[in-house]
Amino acid sequence: MPRRRRCRRVASQPRFTYFKPIGIRAMDLEEVELGMDEFEAIRLKDYLGLEQNEAAFEMGVSQPTFHRIIDEAHRKVAKALIDGLLLRMSREDQVVIVEKESYRIFECFDCESRWSVDYGIPKPMKCPNCGSTLLARVKED
Ligand SMILES: [Zn+2]
Repeated sequence: MPRRRRCRRVASQPRFTYFKPIGIRAMDLEEVELGMDEFEAIRLKDYLGLEQNEAAFEMGVSQPTFHRIIDEAHRKVAKALIDGLLLRMSREDQVVIVEKESYRIFECFDCESRWSVDYGIPKPMKCPNCGSTLLARVKED
């Protein structure tokens, strides 16, 4: 099966390379590889709790693309858990590693104030300065 070339932003390399069921030698296990973009999708949406549109924004992909990536990631992780596979984290060099801040910045269209919100905290509904609901995420690129 030919592999598509990928160029997607991920914030960090996985810290762990393999997960396997205990008591079975790795060489006796079927292996499934989680792509770095799939790992990143899980990290952003499932681990940090970002909304899908925020997670897609972080990775620099469209929402439909993000949806495909995380669907495939969930399918692989589920198969590894249920069937007892060796789950290997890919370290592809096609992806762009970006140093990410631990917060994102929002801007108010009414009073033009800007403020930061840590990841894991939901995106704000109102401007903390004037109470306006006309807010936008500021692109840092
Ligand atoms: Zn405001």
